[in-house]
Amino acid sequence: MPKSISLPSYYQATASSSPRHPPLQGDVSADVCIVGAGYTGLSAAIELAEAGYKVVVVEAETVGHGASGRNGGQICTGFSAGQEKIAAQLGKADARRCFALAEEAKLLLKERITRYGIDCSLRWGYLHVLPKPNRFDGLKQWKAEWDDLGYTDTQLLSKAELEEKLGSKAYHGALREGGAGHFHPLNYCFGLARAAISAGAAIHEGSRAVEVDTGERPFVRTAQGRVNAKFVIIACNAYLGRLVPKLYGKVMPVTSYIIATEPLGEDRARAFIRDGEAVADTNFIVDYFRITSDTRMLFGGRASYTTLEPSDLGAYMKPRMTKIFPQLADARIDFAWGGFIAITYNRIPDCGRLSPTAYYAHGYSGQGVALAGLYGKLMAEAIRGTAERFDLLSRVRHLPFPGGPVRVPMLASAMLFYRLRDALS
Ligand SMILES: Cc1cc2nc3c(=O)[nH]c(=O)nc-3n(C[C@H](O)[C@H](O)[C@H](O)COP(=O)(O)OP(=O)(O)OC[C@H]3O[C@@H](n4cnc5c(N)ncnc54)[C@H](O)[C@@H]3O)c2cc1C
Repeated sequence: MPKSISLPSYYQATASSSPRHPPLQGDVSADVCIVGAGYTGLSAAIELAEAGYKVVVVEAETVGHGASGRNGGQICTGFSAGQEKIAAQLGKADARRCFALAEEAKLLLKERITRYGIDCSLRWGYLHVLPKPNRFDGLKQWKAEWDDLGYTDTQLLSKAELEEKLGSKAYHGALREGGAGHFHPLNYCFGLARAAISAGAAIHEGSRAVEVDTGERPFVRTAQGRVNAKFVIIACNAYLGRLVPKLYGKVMPVTSYIIATEPLGEDRARAFIRDGEAVADTNFIVDYFRITSDTRMLFGGRASYTTLEPSDLGAYMKPRMTKIFPQLADARIDFAWGGFIAITYNRIPDCGRLSPTAYYAHGYSGQGVALAGLYGKLMAEAIRGTAERFDLLSRVRHLPFPGGPVRVPMLASAMLFYRLRDALS
């Protein structure tokens, strides 16, 4: 279990109020026990509870404690791995179906925000910005690929056009999309929890699963209780640790850090990102940023396989931001935090069955804000008896990460390689 980066985040400081959910006490029965109250687990809980299933969610900490309450809030299109890797495994036609599912993921998120009245500062618009001048053809190809997949709400921007929208000279063009965007991730997570409760699900915080049985009569045991269920869903992503030995090594926790400045005021904020889009560069190790609804610059990036936390996260991250926006040198950093992203070897999410009664989905590889909800929904769909869409995604094959003492040094070297590649290409 990786160490938790527990600094108070901007999201915690600005979250809507959320009721606390009592720990599990004693033995209970359920149709489905879900382990983990992030987007994946809560999405499955909503679908199943609305369909009349008795659902119990056990969460080790609090709702949204994991990546779902800490992320950059960027709602992305497609999969982190890109279409080519998926097509190489599943063939072109099924890769197209996967892309359609990823589009459905964004729609699902949008519909839930409307349907459950979730106040989470949703805003559409996304810029993929080029850190190197020689990569514009790559953006053209990307646009052509999306056009071919029927996703056409995109536009190429030259360096000059981009500089009209973005107060930075660091980039050499962009691909703009209208169908991606950003929001307050923790408020969205709290909204999902409220929807799950309204549909009849029970959520227990402070209830770490210490044993999961995936046999014919599965159960989940916590320190003070036990849920006997017909089905179990594992939705712990990078925070899973060694709870389920079969899943250890399938994903690797990678740390990503975020800072938020003091409020900049509407005019200054608009000078940084004129139309308020979410922004991410096209490097392998991505810098991502956006303006929050209260006009702060929220800037994320870096990545570390070692899970060691820098002693002064704000000071560690700020130079990264001022390299892009030197005008922010005098801006106070009000918040700095981090969290664990679960990556898979091929950057395609991993899902499947541990047994006929136990499902899992994880490894969105830094792009799970929309996808996690979809995978949660598809696990629910499969439990309800229609597994075709879940089975499509679970056909992707995954290599495990190495275990033992070479695990972290090997991945740290891999990260160094990608940093060099970003710098030199
Ligand atoms: C810093 C950061 C920035 C990111 N930025 C973006 C972004 O901008 N866009 C994007 O698309 N994606 C982003 N991601 C990824 C995205 O947040 C995740 O893919 C997504 O939230 C995964 O949701 P989840 O429900 O699967 O996992 P999580 O939200 O991590 O939830 C897992 C839950 O399981 C609980 N748990 C673990 N073990 C146990 C146990 N034994 N018993 C009970 N409960 C347990 C944890 O406490 C946790 O609450 C980011 C992630 C991080 C960390």
